[in-house]
Amino acid sequence: MPQYIDLSHTFCEGMQSHPSQPPVEFTQTARIFMEHFHATRVSFGSHCGSHVDSPSHMFDGAHPLVDEIPLETLIGPAKIAKFRKEQKETVTKADILAACGELEQGDRLVVSFGWYPHWRSRKYFDNYPTFTMDAVEYMVEKKIALLAMDTPSPDRPDYSWGEAKRTENHHALMKGNVIIVESLTNLESIPDDKPFELIVLPLRAKGLDGFPVRAVAVCR
Ligand SMILES: [Zn+2]
Repeated sequence: MPQYIDLSHTFCEGMQSHPSQPPVEFTQTARIFMEHFHATRVSFGSHCGSHVDSPSHMFDGAHPLVDEIPLETLIGPAKIAKFRKEQKETVTKADILAACGELEQGDRLVVSFGWYPHWRSRKYFDNYPTFTMDAVEYMVEKKIALLAMDTPSPDRPDYSWGEAKRTENHHALMKGNVIIVESLTNLESIPDDKPFELIVLPLRAKGLDGFPVRAVAVCR
């Protein structure tokens, strides 16, 4: 029996999101005692919780949009790199090489900064660890297909509202056709010594810049 590890945060009303995102709200629209069934209106931002970014998050007119990301990119064998990084620390190219060896074209790389336990604390969005540009350039040079992480973003959060946000890591990855998946959880549960398959599925949401995902590691 394969082991299934859920890598997605629970999607719930009031779930904490980046300050740029609207609140997640569930509103009951039908009740058994009145309408004889339950139904709910769900409202949320496209970058809430565990989610995928389309390159159109950062570039006008960029593709693939969420509904265009190939299933071949979102499902397949993956590599895990586990770290214990603190606020403002970084994962470098040398860290990735030490954890995984050389990356290869088409790889799906899952990086645990050891950050997901801070979910639901104020610290989660505050000076979380990120990648150095040499790490990002290495992943792009190797033409990996997908980069997933347990932090809110591959870019540093240290900017003020109204200032241009620093998004050079997003830009480099997206120009290199690397699909970005953010805010995964449970990454320490993925075994180091066995191959695993990653499944990251957003709804087939037409034309969107991002969407929440159900992400699963399948370990055999
Ligand atoms: Zn995002």
